[in-house]
Amino acid sequence: MNATVIDAHNVSKVYNPDAIPVYAVNNVHLHIEKGEFTALVGPSGSGKTTLLNMIGGLDKPTEGNIIINDVDITKLSANRLINFRLKNIGFVFQSFNLIPVLTAKENAEFIMQLQGDKKDEREKRVAQLFKQIGLEDKMNVRPAKLSGGQQQRVAIARALASMPQFVLADEPTANLDSQSAANLLDIMAKLNAEENMTFLFSTHDPRVIERARRVITLVDGKVASDTAVVDVNVAHNQMSPTC
Ligand code: ADP
Ligand code: MG
Repeated sequence: MNATVIDAHNVSKVYNPDAIPVYAVNNVHLHIEKGEFTALVGPSGSGKTTLLNMIGGLDKPTEGNIIINDVDITKLSANRLINFRLKNIGFVFQSFNLIPVLTAKENAEFIMQLQGDKKDEREKRVAQLFKQIGLEDKMNVRPAKLSGGQQQRVAIARALASMPQFVLADEPTANLDSQSAANLLDIMAKLNAEENMTFLFSTHDPRVIERARRVITLVDGKVASDTAVVDVNVAHNQMSPTC
């Protein structure tokens, strides 16, 4: 059995509780295991960002518990939470968020540096990741010289560099053209397969949704459906003899 990496129990986030309350997230249960490749979908305003921010420890739930690797992050002090996030959670944002004065390689190394990883260890890991994201020739270039799709690939490398327990990506393809979006999903799927890296990404792009292995739909802050996707190709290959 796979290990549980995210366990959210009865998680709610209520804005404006004393006047007209807004349930951005309403009593959500979520269980994610190592190696999953899961899309969180739903219309704008359905609570995707709020839920991801709470799972990532960037925001606190009004109610409920979020357990990551047996640690209830809702009970951690602010300082412990910062450390926990740094060690365990990789983030990818819609707007790339690379540091403009650092090169692509320095951006990817950044979290490892904060964690105190040694230079040779950082260089080895980052070189490997740039190979995986297909940007070995852009390692020493600053973000402004990269396309949006290339910047987001560097952001993925940065998220994975420190070997987090999982990567949260909030609408990672929202600012990309369809070719770059498809390319980014190829890279995420490859890293999922090669490193068994767990991805939880939000999107409302149907072409991104169809790449997921599991699709969780939020409507008005509640889980409306949670579906495992059967991979037709894999099922077909397993059934038919190789020629
Ligand atoms: P999504 O990412 O699916 O578009 P969000 O998580 O951003 O949804 O928002 C969910 C709901 O919570 C929306 O109704 C939104 O208006 C509300 N909301 C989000 N952030 C705040 C806030 N800081 N104050 C009040 N309401 C908020
Ligand atoms: Mg959002």
